Amino acid sequence: MRVAKSFARLFSKDKTLPGGAVIVYEEIIIGLGANGSDHHEKSGCRRAELGCKTGEGYELCEGCHPKNHSEPRAIQNALSRGYKTKGADLYLWGHWWCCKWCWDSMLKAGIKNVYLLEKSEVLFNKEHPDNMICKQLDLPMTHQEDLFVLHIKSFVSKPGRRQILAERFKDAPSNIDDWLEGNNLPGMNLRTLIMDYIWNYPCFYPNS
Ligand SMILES: [Zn+2]
Ligand SMILES: [Zn+2]
Repeated sequence: MRVAKSFARLFSKDKTLPGGAVIVYEEIIIGLGANGSDHHEKSGCRRAELGCKTGEGYELCEGCHPKNHSEPRAIQNALSRGYKTKGADLYLWGHWWCCKWCWDSMLKAGIKNVYLLEKSEVLFNKEHPDNMICKQLDLPMTHQEDLFVLHIKSFVSKPGRRQILAERFKDAPSNIDDWLEGNNLPGMNLRTLIMDYIWNYPCFYPNS
């Protein structure tokens, strides 16, 4: 769930309800997805124009279309890496229910269980007075830094990866060990780029 949140933070393009999905099979992360698209910024929201209710009319807007939801994106991500999703579990952070389109995609993909964050129905529910919408991602920086360092450590633990990272990110501090000590962590943009690179690197499995 923590990875789902981190992934939403880094890659979701939905500013109001950022969401992230992680697919896990036998304790290995096989797929990651975050929601949102650039469409709303460029062309506005057709559903908002039409006054659609929450959960309705997703297909009417290119930006709201369920293909931009984190669940099908995570499934797609797993399949594109050559994993089978049958029997896997999906962890969804940032939302408290799944739309029909997503349920159908998950059923088709053979997802066994869907897990939500505890109290999601309060925290991420627009209708609930105690929700934390717009504050979902408020967290002490240390969590983020911990996760970042964890992923880098995991990445560079394989032979040759350290070199790859140093070559790929010339702006980064030349000594990767400095980052890992936490004294010299690069800025937010660079961090996002590095994370993006690591997640998309073939054969990077955070749990392995
Ligand atoms: Zn829309
Ligand atoms: Zn959906």
